[in-house]
Amino acid sequence: MKKPELLAPAGDFEKLRTALHYGADAVYIGDSRFSLRGKAGNFQRNELRDAVAYAHAHNARAYVTVNIFAHNRDLKFVEEHALLLRDIRPDAVIVSDPGIFSIFRRIAPEIDIHISTQANITNAETARFWEDLGARRLILARELSVDEIREIRAKTRIALEVFVHGSICISYSGRCYISSFLASRSANSGECTNSCRWSYSLMEEKRQGEYLPVFEDERGTYIMSSRDLCMIDHLPLLAEAGIDSFKIEGRMKGINYLAGVVKSYREAVDAIGREDYAGLCAGWREELSRSSNRGFTTGMFFGKQSDTDYNFDEESYRMSHELVGVVLDVQGNRARVALRNRLDRGDEVEFLSSGLEGKRFEVASMDDPEGFAITSARNEEIIFLEVPAGVRKHDLIRRDKDFRGSKKVIAPVAGDRDC
Ligand code: SF4
Repeated sequence: MKKPELLAPAGDFEKLRTALHYGADAVYIGDSRFSLRGKAGNFQRNELRDAVAYAHAHNARAYVTVNIFAHNRDLKFVEEHALLLRDIRPDAVIVSDPGIFSIFRRIAPEIDIHISTQANITNAETARFWEDLGARRLILARELSVDEIREIRAKTRIALEVFVHGSICISYSGRCYISSFLASRSANSGECTNSCRWSYSLMEEKRQGEYLPVFEDERGTYIMSSRDLCMIDHLPLLAEAGIDSFKIEGRMKGINYLAGVVKSYREAVDAIGREDYAGLCAGWREELSRSSNRGFTTGMFFGKQSDTDYNFDEESYRMSHELVGVVLDVQGNRARVALRNRLDRGDEVEFLSSGLEGKRFEVASMDDPEGFAITSARNEEIIFLEVPAGVRKHDLIRRDKDFRGSKKVIAPVAGDRDC
């Protein structure tokens, strides 16, 4: 069985580099003017060119999202964008609007077109419709079950892609005005504020400040708040059902999330076909729980679940580990590190590096760029650290979020310079 592609989000250049470093076969990127998730730190024109070139230089594919719902006033700019992309040559564009599909077929016919999940492909007839028009891949609606996917697979030859991990819209494939009404940021223009995940209460107009008891527990009710999709246990089933590409959601998420999720899914995709696959899942699930998540669900892949299987009933995201820094380069056992958090001598950190999973290392010493020993450094500072064998350039360093509370205090040594 051919292994499906692992497709990761890349909201900016650092995320692109992280996704490829941890094993993505392909990335999806966007230009902020034409992409849902318009606030996802998308690429500007020249950055888009560099991003596609970077992916190709690393033997990966780059797909560019052009999945806005265009109005007449947008068409001129979409045509200009098609000309630009014809020059940049991404491996595909991702579109949902038939008008934009038409523009790309006319202006840039050499670029493959993938049909976005926003186009709500939920049946074999729609799949054939796009196949007959010349689309090369369909990103199926998240509302489909595995059995429905099998039927589409049996009736079409076009490549199929599904989301396997990440946030789920509580509305039908993101067709939603909650964020638009409550925060003046439209999900349909890619600016969703995730308003469905806020904590809500009811208040009767004449009883200001008195919240009516719609609560399911003492912290409130989160009636529109979905858990995150996680299909890592079931990738062999999806591969066998005929899926060609596994997509990870999250162009808005940080590199800590991206690294852990891509690394886990890379290992899982590579393990498809192994007899011990099921036994490996616990380790991957543990890794996935370390970065931002809202509890996990298998969505609609196995049919409609009970509401309690979907509903995330806590107020905030869960995350057991926080990002400490990014390894810029390594020479011998010394690494130059860009910090993303405060780090103190004596802290216990983990390296998100192959072979070092779950191992903790105490920061015994650290130096500033001039070579002075220091006891503490802050976010955005560059420091030098001693690192274990196996740490590579672009690896992430992180730590248990609870560690700081129980951390022992290290007294400064002679010659230390506090930052
Ligand atoms: S508010 Fe929630 S349901 Fe609506 S588009 Fe945003 S994430 Fe999706």
